[in-house]
Formats: sequence, C-alpha cells, structure tokens
Amino acid sequence: MKRIGLIGGMSWESTAIYYRLLNLGVKARLGGHSSADLVLRRVDFAPIEALQRGCDWAGLDAVMAQAAQDVEAAGAEFLLLCTNTMHRCADAIENAISIPLLHIADPLEMVLGEMEIETVGLLGTRYTMEQGFYRARLGAAGVEVIVPEAPDRSEVHRIIFEELVAGRIEEASRKTCKDIMEQLAGDGADAIILGCTEIGLLVRPEDALVPVLDTTILHAQAAVDWALG
Ligand code: GLU
Repeated sequence: MKRIGLIGGMSWESTAIYYRLLNLGVKARLGGHSSADLVLRRVDFAPIEALQRGCDWAGLDAVMAQAAQDVEAAGAEFLLLCTNTMHRCADAIENAISIPLLHIADPLEMVLGEMEIETVGLLGTRYTMEQGFYRARLGAAGVEVIVPEAPDRSEVHRIIFEELVAGRIEEASRKTCKDIMEQLAGDGADAIILGCTEIGLLVRPEDALVPVLDTTILHAQAAVDWALG
C-alpha cells in the first residue's frame, strides 16, 4: 500500500470526511484491521481564508508549496489537496515536489466521461465558480460548465464560508441549494458537481433532479485506488 499524503484543514470539516473515507475505503478493500497509511499536514484555515479574500494567490502558492514539501518529507508517495479552491495553486505545488499530485478534477473527469455527461452545473466557492483554473480544466476535457447567476453564486459562497466550514447545516440553505440546482438543470446541466469539499455535508443526491457528483467522495475513492494499485 502506498502512503497517501494530505494537505487538509481547508476546512477541517471536510478533511475529517477525507480521513474517514480513506480509512473506510482501504478497510473495504483489504479487510481485517486494515486502514489507510497516510500523513496529514493540516494548515490553519484562518490565514488561508484571509489570503483568498485578499486575492493573494502568490502568497497562497507559497504556503501550499511549503505544505506539499512537508508532506513529501513525511514520506508520502502521492499527494491529495483536500479542497477544490486551492487547486488554483496546483502548478506551484507540482513544481515544489517530486511526488505526484492527484488532482481533484481527474477522477471527476473520468466519471463524467463514463457517464457521457457533456454539460454540468458547478457549485463551489466564488473562486472555483468564477475563476478559470477549474472550469478551464473541465472545458479542456470537453465538458461545458454552467454556474449559477451572480446573486446565487454569492449565496452559495456565503453558505460555504459562514456555515459549512463551521460545521453548521441549515435547512434553509439546503432549500436554497436545491432551488439553484433545479435552475442549473433547467439551464441544461445533466449533472451537478459539488465542487467544494464541504457541500456534501449539506446537499444530498436526492436534493437534485439530475445526478450529483461529490468531488470529495470521488477524490477519496481515487486515492484509495492509487494507494492500493
Ligand atoms: N473546501 C472548499 C473547497 O473545496 C472551500 C474552502 C477553501 O476555500 O479552500 O473549495
């Protein structure tokens, strides 16, 4: 079994989900007392969130590159970055280490290909929904990405940063996401991507009229596959 490296803490609520899924995944495959061989570098989310809000992506590149080096030095054989948003720093991370980064969009693209889905609705932070780093990658894989209208993007972003990263699950916010997903499906989305590692805490598959793809689950499953070969 390969040693999995994680950069977590963005937020720790979703890192806890990764931790559980990775251990459950290894146990399901190997049985007995098996669990994941992993190292976790958990950053403090407060300075990260402040740098994001200040659009200091160069600063974030440096923090992520250092965290990735810490994980490599701890013996990890490949790396997972447990957040969609911070994949904006994927190039800086890959340039800083010699172990591979399992990009969160890779297993997603594979599943979209298998399901023959061409148009998706994307929910995530404002950075993920509005900047090019995520959408362009899916676009290059031949997937058309549609995002909610500006006021709805603001509301999803608010739900993530005011509620989900603090572990708060609000019924009213679930309803909001339900309505937004219905709109995206009406606009032509054949599936909804939960492109934020905390949204799965709130949104369930039955909340949408089309298939829901949770990047946290797909990423963790792919990591188990990589680890076990
Ligand atoms: N975990 C989140 C994501 O998947 C949001 C927190 C962050 O900004 O890193 O994008």
